[in-house]
Amino acid sequence: MNFYPVALEGCMEYNPDLIAQIIEKQLSGIGLTAETLRGKKIVIKPNLVMNKKPDFSATTHPAVIAGAARALRSIGAGELYLAESSGGPYTESTIRLHYNGCGIKEIAEQENIKLNYSTASSIMQFPGGTACRSFNVIQPICDADIVVNICKLKTHSLTKMSCGVKNLYGVIPGTEKVEMHARFSRVESFTQMLCDLAQMFIENKTVITICDGICGMEGNGPTGGTPREYGVLMSSLSPFALDLAAEHLLGFAGTVPTVQTAIVRGLCPADIAGLSIIGDDYKQHITNDVVPPDTSRRSILRDFPDLFGGRLVRFLEPRPKINQKICVGCGVCAASCPKKTIVIREKSGKKQLKIVDKNCIRCYCCQEMCPKNAVKIQKNLILRLVR
Ligand code: SF4
Ligand code: SF4
Repeated sequence: MNFYPVALEGCMEYNPDLIAQIIEKQLSGIGLTAETLRGKKIVIKPNLVMNKKPDFSATTHPAVIAGAARALRSIGAGELYLAESSGGPYTESTIRLHYNGCGIKEIAEQENIKLNYSTASSIMQFPGGTACRSFNVIQPICDADIVVNICKLKTHSLTKMSCGVKNLYGVIPGTEKVEMHARFSRVESFTQMLCDLAQMFIENKTVITICDGICGMEGNGPTGGTPREYGVLMSSLSPFALDLAAEHLLGFAGTVPTVQTAIVRGLCPADIAGLSIIGDDYKQHITNDVVPPDTSRRSILRDFPDLFGGRLVRFLEPRPKINQKICVGCGVCAASCPKKTIVIREKSGKKQLKIVDKNCIRCYCCQEMCPKNAVKIQKNLILRLVR
């Protein structure tokens, strides 16, 4: 079976001219031509998970969006649009807030990219889905002929890594993402759903995935980790192939659930040796000391998920805990919790939030969405002692 190649090149600075040069070379290398782009509706889908400045490395850097736009235009693209549904509600005011806070508005004006402010969405059907056969998708992405999926290379508390496949989850409107977490409450089913979503796109549209790995994140990603320079840019027509390369660059080979599911489905090679990589030798970009998320002990638990009716895994899994000293009582975590298991109480005139553990499904949305990084992951004491 022939798989899409991945173009990979070192890049250490957020310089739009340099990035444009590299991306143009990469896109031409993976087979993108003027013919592919001409007359097509092209929509850029960045990662704007929350309202954070680019320096936090939680969101796609505006310089990469500028570079990608210039590269696409130089190959033959016409009008470019940008759309994203961040975490939290999908309203015009939150969309505006994220564009401003993440540095997108400014770059969009400079590069003449049309920003989406509509909150419309439509159902896209995927009869071949394993876990999910239809998705509600934000309208500009439904209407696109070409989706330019510009992801960030990050660790992730639930899926271990956030890159090409995970970035496409941001096409689900606002808080509907929270409902999906409740519906696909185990990492295994959530992973199958993510792969269905990405597969639906590659079977129905051209998906160009570009990875901003210049400065990514390690530790408690996708929002609460530490920026980490990986110094790479990658491009591919397959988010699955790109993620296989990314998994290796982070030193996580064989442990990222979405990559493993893609391998089982035959969506990418079983091993990186089977992947055609254009540009640099990927081995020179492997970072072996990337700090995984505190939740990544989940991987050893995945080998026996149903033991004692799943109760053992539940008992041993790392659990979220709110640090009351840091918490400002904003309630974002409670609104993001798919099980509505974060309760708000008043104590001495101050709001206190508490997780009722018995209903918690360990999706870690509360940790992801907390603007103050106040949700910490507590590892099981027994596992810690055994280790
Ligand atoms: S989101 Fe964070 S700061 Fe806000 S209430 Fe929850 S834990 Fe506290
Ligand atoms: S408390 Fe946090 S980890 Fe638990 S279900 Fe709610 S959002 Fe998910």
